[in-house]
Amino acid sequence: MDAAEFAPLPGQALALRDDLVVVLAPNPSPMTGPGTNTYLLGRDRLVVIDPGPAIPAHLTAVLQAIGGRVVDHILVTHSHLDHAALAPALAAETGAAVCAYGGATTGRSAVLVALVARGLTGGGEGIDHNFAPDRMLADGDVLDGDWGRITAIHTPGHLGNHLCFLWGDGLFSGDHVMGWASSLVSPPDGDLTDFMVSCRKLQGVSAGQFYPGHGAPVTDPQARLTWLIAHRLQREAQIIDALTAGPATPQAVTAQVYPDLSALLAKAAERNVLAHLIDLHTRGIVTAAPAPDAEAVFRLSKPVLSPPRGI
Ligand SMILES: [Zn+2]
Repeated sequence: MDAAEFAPLPGQALALRDDLVVVLAPNPSPMTGPGTNTYLLGRDRLVVIDPGPAIPAHLTAVLQAIGGRVVDHILVTHSHLDHAALAPALAAETGAAVCAYGGATTGRSAVLVALVARGLTGGGEGIDHNFAPDRMLADGDVLDGDWGRITAIHTPGHLGNHLCFLWGDGLFSGDHVMGWASSLVSPPDGDLTDFMVSCRKLQGVSAGQFYPGHGAPVTDPQARLTWLIAHRLQREAQIIDALTAGPATPQAVTAQVYPDLSALLAKAAERNVLAHLIDLHTRGIVTAAPAPDAEAVFRLSKPVLSPPRGI
């Protein structure tokens, strides 16, 4: 199935394979695309990946798609509300354990932990602060069952606790790799340095198809990863360019790098630029006064300590 054929209706289960169904949640938005994909994999016994937002109609639709079959595990890619908030209700209905990397701030990088301690605040992007998995999955952990083998791959960047799940030739890529949008990386929950490392980690994973948290399956994932990395490097070059003209705040850099952005997306873009600036700060390419946060003035280090990162 290619992107043009992927047109699920909210609440109606759509079969992607004979052992894989997607139920689209009714939460479309500029950040979530058509809505959150809740995946059910298996035939007689099931695994649910990303229960979705806490919307009663979505719970009803997912339970209908489950149809009374045993659910062995509920896996959560990351603890944003649009993926995780329905987990407790679905666990109560099915008796399945919720498995994920950890709670809201688990997996946060040392750089971001230090910046938070110095006062960096979040952009408020829908973190599920109550998220508490029954079982923690670490990088490389394996689940086996009637539905096959699932391997957890820790991919911090969009969020520190982000996991992808490898299942045969398919990879459930959450919000890390999507076909229709690049991933939001907003500090302190998002870390661009980690994001790039995770992209390169996925370049080493053999999977013919990625099943994202939002939108259609990605049928050429290696091409998508190459684009995603190149897109970030291009953005980084634009930001360095903007700073060449002189020191600037994240807001001023955003206005230069994204001149035509709607007000709706401007806030997200500013967080994205801040993610790049923090990454550049970590790598010694920029300095920040008084400290690297949303209000700081960033300037290029003189001399530039390391060249822009190559592919
Ligand atoms: Zn997310």
